[in-house]
Amino acid sequence: MRPFAYVSANTPKRAIAASTAESQFLAGGTTLIDLMKLDVLQPERIVDINPLQARYGGIERTAEGVRLGALVRMGEAADDPVLRSEYPVLAQALQQAASPQLRNMATLAGNVLQRTRCTYFRNPSYHACNKREPGSGCAALDGLNRKHAVLGVSEHCIATYAGDFAQALIALDASVDVAGRSGERRIPFAQLHRLPANTPDVETTLAPAELITAFFVPSGPWTRRSHYLKIRDRESFAFALASAAVALHVENGEVREARIGLGGVATVPWRGREAEGVLKGKALSQESAQAAAEAAFASAQSRDQNAYKPELGRRTLVRALMTAAALEI
Ligand code: SF4
Repeated sequence: MRPFAYVSANTPKRAIAASTAESQFLAGGTTLIDLMKLDVLQPERIVDINPLQARYGGIERTAEGVRLGALVRMGEAADDPVLRSEYPVLAQALQQAASPQLRNMATLAGNVLQRTRCTYFRNPSYHACNKREPGSGCAALDGLNRKHAVLGVSEHCIATYAGDFAQALIALDASVDVAGRSGERRIPFAQLHRLPANTPDVETTLAPAELITAFFVPSGPWTRRSHYLKIRDRESFAFALASAAVALHVENGEVREARIGLGGVATVPWRGREAEGVLKGKALSQESAQAAAEAAFASAQSRDQNAYKPELGRRTLVRALMTAAALEI
């Protein structure tokens, strides 16, 4: 690990003022420290925001929804009784992420900003990685790409977005509060991550020194009938090969609203709007769920080793929808 300066910030103003183009915020550190040890990230300064815990570390239920502080630990949110009963897809996505030890350290904001697990990104001995070294190429296109994305890909990067919680947030139309040099603003969660296009190194729409302070998840008639299904190589401490976050509003046997997030298959947290459109106004059956899944992956582009992913993604979505539909609420 290389030498770096350490600054502890006990107000948001200090955290933002201390941030530079070469600095990183430190919360749980479960991604940052890993990547510093691997020499993928070489920050000159670490701005420790853990002293902001009292301000940004709470879960607040309101009449309109639930507000989750950026510094809430994943484990705390996963065990929260309100999330477990009213927003099960959020709690389930968190419960199935990482290990208990990591969930006790990692924060919600750090989790949604986690970096990809692409082998070439995480190992600087490989030269060609546009995300780590802009303009160097993409070794995964014709290399190890079994776990790579099939949705939202570009000729410059096919790295999979690795998180689970983000799929639940995007499905539930969450928003993100951020604070920065120009003040505070709120953006839809769906606008936080950027598609790789020709700049895969720029992963979010956050401005320099901007800090996520909270997430807001609106309540709706679909939030209780929600479910997260994660398919992976082993049943714990593994990243999704495919996942689906679904939330349904069903009345008189008809789907009034369907909310769908897809993970393990896309370069960013992915909203399955085409699939939602197929389900709206229909009875949820194996056939309609299959039609929705076909629509969700109609634009999939696979490579040599990940050609199995569209079919796995379709089956995952069908199973998640049928499970949500069968919930006794
Ligand atoms: Fe780098 Fe993206 Fe290619 Fe992986 S897929 S090598 S992260 S550019």
